[in-house]
Amino acid sequence: MSRLILDDDTGIDGRGIVRDDVVAEWGPPPGPLDWAVEDWQPEPEIVAWARLGPWEAVLARIGRHAQLGVRRDGRRPDWHGLSKSPDDMNRGMVGSTLLAPGRLADVTAVTRRDEFTGIQVQGAERVQQMVVPRIVEHPPGEELDPAQARHAVTTAAAQAPGAPLDLPAELTRELLHRLRRTPTEVVRIAVGLRVAETWRLPDGFEIPVVYDVAPGTAQGYVLDEDTGAALTTLHACRNHHLAGALAWCAHCLNPTCAACSESVRPCRLCQGAVCGDCLATPDGRCPACARLAKVGRFARGRYGVSAGGSAWHSEVPNVQVTVRQERNYWTVERWDRYGRVTVPLDPHTVQALRGWLSAR
Ligand SMILES: [Zn+2]
Ligand SMILES: [Zn+2]
Ligand SMILES: [Zn+2]
Ligand SMILES: [Zn+2]
Repeated sequence: MSRLILDDDTGIDGRGIVRDDVVAEWGPPPGPLDWAVEDWQPEPEIVAWARLGPWEAVLARIGRHAQLGVRRDGRRPDWHGLSKSPDDMNRGMVGSTLLAPGRLADVTAVTRRDEFTGIQVQGAERVQQMVVPRIVEHPPGEELDPAQARHAVTTAAAQAPGAPLDLPAELTRELLHRLRRTPTEVVRIAVGLRVAETWRLPDGFEIPVVYDVAPGTAQGYVLDEDTGAALTTLHACRNHHLAGALAWCAHCLNPTCAACSESVRPCRLCQGAVCGDCLATPDGRCPACARLAKVGRFARGRYGVSAGGSAWHSEVPNVQVTVRQERNYWTVERWDRYGRVTVPLDPHTVQALRGWLSAR
C-alpha cells in the first residue's frame, strides 16, 4: 500500500497512521482542532483525523480543495495537497461570509453595499443607515464566476496553508476516495440588501424605514401596502406615516395618507377634500357645506341667479361654497386651494340637501 513516510517505522496510508502492525484509523475529529484550521480562510472542514504516538494527522477540505495535514509533538503541521480548487475556495469564502462556517455557495446575482440607491423621504434628513446582505435562497439564473462572486461579497481572499502536491499518486487517490464518502453541498443563493434607516422630519420626529434592494439591482424601494406599487420617494403625513402620496385637507391644509384614521375624503355635498378631523357633520359634510346660509333676495344677482332662483352661500377659512337652484336644476360651486369648480347635483344629493337646508 502506498504511504507517506513519517519516520523510520511510521507512515500514513489510506487507512490512517500506521506503525508496524498498528493502524490508528481515520475517524471523526475528537473536537475542535485549532492547529488544523488556523492558517485557513475560510475555516476548512476536518473530515478525518488520526493520532498515533507523537503523530497527528487530518484530512481537511473546502469543497474539492483538500489537504493532508501532519504534525509531530504538537508542533506546526506540514501540509500536502490532495486536490486544488480555487473555485471551491471562493465558494467557501462566500458561504462562510453569508451563510455559516463550512458552507459553500454559488451566487447568481449580487448587489454590493456600496452600489445601491436608497429611497428618499421628501423634506426629511437621513440620520442613520444600516445595510446588511439579504440572502435569497434557490434563485433562478446562471451562477457567477466564483472568484467574481467572492470579490463582490468580501474583500478578504480565500487562503489555505501552502501544500505541495507531493504525495504518491496512489495515496492521493485513496485519501480523496475517503473524502468523497462525505459529500459536500453547494447552495445557490442570490444576494440583495436589507437597509434600515432613520429619517428626521422637519418637526424633529424620527421615522424608521426598512426596505430591500433585490439581488443584482441597484434601486431600493418600499412596497406601498395599499397599491403594491414600488415607491422610491416617500412622504410623511401628519401622523408620521410614510406613504407614496398624500392627500391635503382643503380646510386645515394638513396632509393625511391612506393609513390615517382621519384620512382625507370628498365632502358629501361639494366633493371638496376634507379630513376626518375637519368633517363637520356625521353625514359627511365639510365645514363650509354645514354652514350654508340662504342669500337674501337683493344679493342674489351677485351670485348669478335669476329672480326666480335661489342661492345659499358659506365662507370658512380656505373654502367657499355656493349652492344655486334654478327650477329643478341644482349646482354647487366650490372654491378652495385646488381651484374653483361647479358641479351639478344629482337627485339623491338634492333630496338630502333639501333636508339639511330646511333643518337650519
Ligand atoms: Zn439548498
Ligand atoms: Zn382637515
Ligand atoms: Zn397617515
Ligand atoms: Zn363641502
